[in-house]
Amino acid sequence: MTGSEFQGPGPDAVFAAGLQAGEFRIQRCGNCGAYIHYPRALCPKCGSSDLEAVPASGRGTVYATSVVRVRPGHGEDYNIALVDLAEGPRMMTRVVDTDPQGVRIGDPVTAFVGEIEGSRVVLFRPAAAASGGDGG
Ligand SMILES: [Zn+2]
Repeated sequence: MTGSEFQGPGPDAVFAAGLQAGEFRIQRCGNCGAYIHYPRALCPKCGSSDLEAVPASGRGTVYATSVVRVRPGHGEDYNIALVDLAEGPRMMTRVVDTDPQGVRIGDPVTAFVGEIEGSRVVLFRPAAAASGGDGG
């Protein structure tokens, strides 16, 4: 009960705890309002330590995409993408639940918490898939 504001888990631990709970959180700067990802101790824009973890909207847009070729017998090819979050930060991730080669720059995508090799990570899937559109 010391009331110190500087006690407690670091930003990485807060982010990891969110993932364990199935939540994708990013940081928002209480001083300048910037959204930040990956979690940091200080705002990269203004240097403030007044950062708060807030739930991400999960909406994003593919900024860049490529396919990682996996040798036969070592798994399937997969997608690596840079996604611009609706809040602003850009993050490296994977777009899954679709043909890895079918991901296009500018595609709307939706975040979810998935698992790769036993670790909880933020992944994306095509947002259009949820709309039920039938256009070809
Ligand atoms: Zn700031």
